[in-house]
Amino acid sequence: MHLLEAENYKNGLVLRLLCTSFTIKMEGIDTNNLWGDVCENLKLSVSGAIFSTWFTQTHIVSLKKNDKRHFIEIGCPTLYSKATLETRYFGIVQDTLSSFLKTPVDLIFTVKQQNSNGKNLQPVTPLFENSKDHGEDLNRAISQSKLRMTYTFQNFAVSSSNQMAWAAAEAVSKNPGSAYNPLFIWGGVGIGKTHLMSAVGHSVLEKNRNAKVYFCTGEDFTNDIVEGIRNKTTQDFRNKYRKLNLLLIDDIQFIAGKVSVQEEFFHTFNALVYSGSQIILTSDQPPSEIKRLEERLKSRFEAGLIVDIGPPDFELRCAIVGIKAKQKGLTIPSNLIHMIAGNIDTPRKIEGFLIKLLSELTIKKSELNEMLIENLVGKGDDSSPIRIKASANDVVTAVMKYYSLGKKQLMGESRVKRLAQPRQLLMYILRTQLSLPYEEVGRLIGGRDHTTVMHAVDKITQMASNNVQIREDILGIKKLI
Ligand code: ADP
Ligand code: MG
Repeated sequence: MHLLEAENYKNGLVLRLLCTSFTIKMEGIDTNNLWGDVCENLKLSVSGAIFSTWFTQTHIVSLKKNDKRHFIEIGCPTLYSKATLETRYFGIVQDTLSSFLKTPVDLIFTVKQQNSNGKNLQPVTPLFENSKDHGEDLNRAISQSKLRMTYTFQNFAVSSSNQMAWAAAEAVSKNPGSAYNPLFIWGGVGIGKTHLMSAVGHSVLEKNRNAKVYFCTGEDFTNDIVEGIRNKTTQDFRNKYRKLNLLLIDDIQFIAGKVSVQEEFFHTFNALVYSGSQIILTSDQPPSEIKRLEERLKSRFEAGLIVDIGPPDFELRCAIVGIKAKQKGLTIPSNLIHMIAGNIDTPRKIEGFLIKLLSELTIKKSELNEMLIENLVGKGDDSSPIRIKASANDVVTAVMKYYSLGKKQLMGESRVKRLAQPRQLLMYILRTQLSLPYEEVGRLIGGRDHTTVMHAVDKITQMASNNVQIREDILGIKKLI
């Protein structure tokens, strides 16, 4: 039993007796306990997915007190998590620490794994982990089930857009056949439906490699039935499908409008659910929207759980770039990860982009830097180039038009948000898109000091990472230029 001793910490809200087998004391403060409390508090402020992605493997490396300030070093598991914590969560971590310690806090983040003595918080979904060594049997079971090797939970990043679907898939993997049956996952193209569905298959096989898991597309299923009917082998078809523990049918919308396929599917579905087997389906639309899907199938699907995956936010895209890069043996610095994630909107396109990048690096021996990313992003089929070719005047006009503001308002001194934010955005675009020097931007915006410009650029950069509206505004303005 240890009593927290630090003067400030003791006087704070959190005086309590703690049972720990191991403590690290710095300046009389048990840093494990302090960080545990900070994390509990952070969980109230950020989503569970954000917390488990970025905070679970962090810890306090060092803590020093000088005058009335604390200097704290936070260890992060990877360079990438360090960069993300620094750019996005610096303020909230600093505020939380200082409210516990009741002093101002200076923070730095470093890359340091926690040593084995420390209390290690386990991530819900460990990111950036290579696939485990599954053993031969498991590999065989995975390939017989027709699952893609890398589509596992370990390689699946979670954020607000897919958190519900992920939680449902996790629940199903823990309790197949009873949690939600069927689980119906729908959403746009390339946003992770197939990956998530397959992850359940992996998880079930990891626990029991003799489980009968089968992944197929709506099209494969249709072909199997058609062949069965043609060759009078429908019994083989039934033996194959009705004895499964877990059936995964990807893009089930394919069977809509096909009468005999839907008929056979209906009976397969009933037989499986009746015998306690799990079914997971994906589609590009919710059941109610799928045209020419039989009503009885719609109502069966609606009896289970229907979840959707929305477009990924910036953080999720960053995490996916990190995961995919790691799988390809690529190390991409965080500024470039941000650049890629900032310009590519779906996970599938990220994958395509990284393949292109890898070939540039290995075949053309290009150097991995901003220029290369810029060029490759610019070459994308439908992604817009990062930099725009326009004059400063064009940008000013576009911002005025976008926000319906006059030049005097935009360039003036007023600090009301309605005017100040467009002004900051204007500075941001001039600096980041036209690469104008800070001084030059200041001069153009009514003779402002370069530090004002720097502040504006920093502020918009921060906001653009987690504020959808700002990102949309930037895109909208770029389109007008
Ligand atoms: P969909 O089936 O929705 O069209 P996929 O599951 O095929 O999309 O995903 C497209 C690509 O994006 C795959 O390479 C997949 O691994 C990757 N991907 C999608 N979502 C995630 C995620 N949350 N974490 C990691 N990779 C993801
Ligand atoms: Mg798919």
